[in-house]
Amino acid sequence: MARADRVFEKFKTMPIWCQSCLVTLAAVLGSDSLTLAFYSIFFSDRLALDLLLTALITIIVAFPIAWLFLDQHVKVERLARELRIASQTDSLTRLANRREFMASVGAALSASDEPAGAGAVLFIDADHFKRINDTYGHGVGDEVLINLGEAIMDSIRLQDVAARIGGEEFAVFLRLADLDMAQRVAERIRVLTHKISESMDLGDIGITVSIGIARHRKGQTLDDVLRTADRSLYVAKETGRDRIVQDLCLPAAA
Ligand code: GH3
Ligand code: MG
Ligand code: MG
Repeated sequence: MARADRVFEKFKTMPIWCQSCLVTLAAVLGSDSLTLAFYSIFFSDRLALDLLLTALITIIVAFPIAWLFLDQHVKVERLARELRIASQTDSLTRLANRREFMASVGAALSASDEPAGAGAVLFIDADHFKRINDTYGHGVGDEVLINLGEAIMDSIRLQDVAARIGGEEFAVFLRLADLDMAQRVAERIRVLTHKISESMDLGDIGITVSIGIARHRKGQTLDDVLRTADRSLYVAKETGRDRIVQDLCLPAAA
């Protein structure tokens, strides 16, 4: 980072009053320098008084203006940060949303030059979720989704990415994970989902998940990995749900 940028970054960490004082001080130094310059051209016998008056007038004018603008700047920056977070977050579960998942995992895959690949992706889909809504109502359905999001977060590490990518569909990227590790994480999510059913007392129409796993191989794009994870998930659904299917490496669909 350039020196000027570093100074500016440090400046931004100071409280507004401190920033305003520094801006005012710079204005006073500038104004008094000009007064001195004029003084050297149009000689006057009251230099000290002129310098003092110039400094006073500059403080009275510059300080409130600096305060006003810096305060607005901080508010705009805070709003921009909140907007950025909102645009990356699923409002129900507080996980990342689909767009953020595609952007961050896509970047991680293309930046990776690990011979064993960048990691593994899990596609997680709630089974017969429509029945939960139909039986218990949309509110309970929402609560189940929130609990599923928490179960997923409880099962992954800080460096992993978890997102709600659709209505009752989630995706997880496990950095540098092999298939064994991905299987363990998926199993933990599956078991925690059974516990959600018990703790929410959902009875016969409980909640389970099907999970498709795909491992990234060097040179593959995110689309390649997601396609494999999607086909694994499809097989998990077709073979009975409440199960995990991994990395089928099926031939490309015709
Ligand atoms: P499958 O096992 O094949 O995945 O069946 P399913 O019922 O889970 O799948 P389907 O695609 O038929 O239905 C998904 C349901 O998820 C329908 C929709 O109303 C519900 N859903 C989607 N988003 C939300 C949400 O934000 N809140 C709630 N409560 N329900 C949602
Ligand atoms: Mg479903
Ligand atoms: Mg679905």
